[in-house]
Amino acid sequence: MALLAAGEAQILSGGTDFYPALGDHVVHGPVVDVSGLGELRGVSSDAGWFRIGGLTTWSEIIRTPLPRCFDALKSAAREVGGVQIQNRGTVAGNLCNASPAADGVPPLLALDAEVELVSKIDLRRVPLADFIVASRKTQRKADELLTAVLVPRALEDAASTFVKLGARRYLVISISMVAVVMKLSDDRQVSDRKVLEARVAVGSCSAVARRLRALEAELVGASVRDGLGRVVRPEHLAPLSPIDDVRATAEYRMDASLRLVQRALNSCVENG
Ligand SMILES: Cc1cc2nc3c(=O)[nH]c(=O)nc-3n(C[C@H](O)[C@H](O)[C@H](O)COP(=O)(O)OP(=O)(O)OC[C@H]3O[C@@H](n4cnc5c(N)ncnc54)[C@H](O)[C@@H]3O)c2cc1C
Repeated sequence: MALLAAGEAQILSGGTDFYPALGDHVVHGPVVDVSGLGELRGVSSDAGWFRIGGLTTWSEIIRTPLPRCFDALKSAAREVGGVQIQNRGTVAGNLCNASPAADGVPPLLALDAEVELVSKIDLRRVPLADFIVASRKTQRKADELLTAVLVPRALEDAASTFVKLGARRYLVISISMVAVVMKLSDDRQVSDRKVLEARVAVGSCSAVARRLRALEAELVGASVRDGLGRVVRPEHLAPLSPIDDVRATAEYRMDASLRLVQRALNSCVENG
C-alpha cells in the first residue's frame, strides 16, 4: 500500500490482461505484484454478505461450493479464456481492466455486487454499477487496491443463468452475454410459479454492461406458465448502445441480445 501511495505504481495480479495490454512495449515504472497475497483469495460470508477476495481466480470460483445465485458467475468463470487463463486470471483483474466484454461483470451486476477499495489511508465500498464508468475506465484511484467483491445475501437462493454468444463455442470474446438472477414464488407446481424479483444484465453491447431495469420491473408478477421469454420486447434493450466492430455489427448484437435474454430467462425458470 505504501508503494501505491508513493504514486505511479501499476498493480499486477494474474497478468492475463496486464501483459497483453503492453503489446510490443516494455513495462515502465514500478509494478506491485499482489498475486502472492493469499488473504485476498477465496470466498467467505457473514450474516449479510458474501465476500469474494479480489485475487480469487476463476478456477477457484468454479471449484468453490456456492449458493445457486452464483451459478451465473460460475458459468461465466468457465467461459473466461481456457483453463490456463482461469487458473491465473482474477475477479479483481477482470473488473479493474473494465473491458466492455469482461465476462465477470454481468453476473456480478445482476447480484448487485459492490467492490471494496483499500488505500494506505482509506477503505471504501462502491456499487459495481458505479465503479466501471466507461470502457477501460473505473473509479479506482491510483493508490487503491481492489481487495474484495461483496454480494448481498438477499437473493442467495434465487436461480441464476449466464449465456454468452461468441463467434465460436470456446476461447472467444463475447459478442453479447446475458446474466439473469431470478426469484420465483415457491408454488409446488412449477407452472403456477410467478416472478418475485428479476435482475437482468447484458454485456458487450455498450461501453459498460447494463441492467435492463424496465424489463426487470415488468417481469415481477409474470407467470412462468407460457415461458418468460415472451415478456421481452425490443424496447427493453433501450439501455444498450452496441457498436459495429470486427466481431459483429450493432444490428446483429441487438437482435442476438434479444434472443439471449429470452433464452436466459427461460433457462432460469427451468433451473429454478
Ligand atoms: C487468451 C486470453 C483469453 C481471455 N479470455 C477472456 C474471456 O473469455 N473473458 C474475459 O472476461 N476475459 C478474458 N481474458 C482476459 C483476462 O483473463 C481476465 O479479464 C482476467 O480476469 C484478468 O485478471 P488478471 O488477474 O489476470 O488481471 P491482470 O492482468 O493482473 O490485471 C488487469 C488490470 O487490472 C488491474 N488490477 C489487477 N488486480 C487488481 C487489484 N486487486 N486492484 C486494482 N487493480 C488491479 C491491473 O493493474 C491491470 O490494469 C482473456 C485473456 C487472455 C490472455
